[in-house]
Amino acid sequence: MHPSATALPYVRSIAPYQPGKPISEVARELGMAERDIIKLASNENPLGCGEPAKAAMRRAIEEVHLYPDGASYDLRAALAAKWGVAMDAVTVGNGSNDLLDYLAMAYLAPGVSAVYSQHCFAVYPITVLARGAHGIKVPARDYGNDLDAMARAIRADTRMVFLANPNNPTGTFTPYPAVHDFMKRVPESVIVVLDEAYNDFLPHELRTDTVAWLKEFPNLVLTRTFCKIYGLAGLRVGYMLAHPEVCDMVNRVRAPFNVNAIAQAAAIAALGDEEFVRRTFENNRAGMAQLTAGFDALGLPYIPSSGNFVTVDVGDGPAVFNALLARGVIVRPIVGYELPRHVRVTIGLPEENARFLAALGEVLKARRSS
Ligand SMILES: *Cc1c(COP(=O)(O)O)cnc(C)c1O
Repeated sequence: MHPSATALPYVRSIAPYQPGKPISEVARELGMAERDIIKLASNENPLGCGEPAKAAMRRAIEEVHLYPDGASYDLRAALAAKWGVAMDAVTVGNGSNDLLDYLAMAYLAPGVSAVYSQHCFAVYPITVLARGAHGIKVPARDYGNDLDAMARAIRADTRMVFLANPNNPTGTFTPYPAVHDFMKRVPESVIVVLDEAYNDFLPHELRTDTVAWLKEFPNLVLTRTFCKIYGLAGLRVGYMLAHPEVCDMVNRVRAPFNVNAIAQAAAIAALGDEEFVRRTFENNRAGMAQLTAGFDALGLPYIPSSGNFVTVDVGDGPAVFNALLARGVIVRPIVGYELPRHVRVTIGLPEENARFLAALGEVLKARRSS
């Protein structure tokens, strides 16, 4: 008997998450030098992380023999102060991914269901299936969340809805008035996880104070991350803002020391580093313009994005991904997201964007002439 045969059937049904290819792996496989490779595949921050965060990490190294503060008191206090909420309305995670798993642990099981959209973040179906719950995938509209259809998809056994805004991997943004209307339609017995991993990249005129909605909707959970605009992906830190009773439930299943000491220290420092956030935002805005102008020049349709990445129709995603890889440019194929014609590219530094566009032009030319 295979050792997988006795694993839970719903675990065996999970399609494993496929991360962006690391630079070291591409270097090994293609015999290239790491410095000749650029990675625009995981929506990481091309500017690195801020100096205050690095300094905090160096200081925290001196205490790594001690367990971290399991309650992440200082980080939660900083977040509560920043957002004007009570400390017991804040829970931190080893990445926001961690919190999605805890929410699923607390609310999902065989016999109940959760709703998410076609082309949604791959972690939603994984975490739902891992609990043995039923996943209801709602067809997307114009690549984005179809909120009417998602509201209609909620059944008596539905306990959770996952909604990323902006969404990854499509970059689509649902205007906040529509999200607010959606919240009013969802029964209070259904937790709505509004995943705001990319909301720091929204142009200012599109933003809304969703934190204020927490008072109106006790079933609303906001998840955010330090992995994107703050540039701390390698440390894994995220947080959720929610009704204290939801945080209480999550804390019951949370691993006692889920956020490590270096990550806690760096996140606190990053939170106060507004200059770095501003620089990242500006680089992203300029890079988005650079990439979309490049796609227009190449005649490639792309999905208008409000994130730090853009998803472009290259005809055959996996083929173009492989051809770019051979030129030392890592992007993300998204066949697993039912987007076989597209690749997703993270906005990089200006010179990285230019190198990607040049390589893409070459690849498309070579494909047309073959
Ligand atoms: C990157 C991302 C996250 C953040 O994940 P972390 O675990 O915080 O790194 C969450 N949701 C979406 C949609 C993402 O793309």
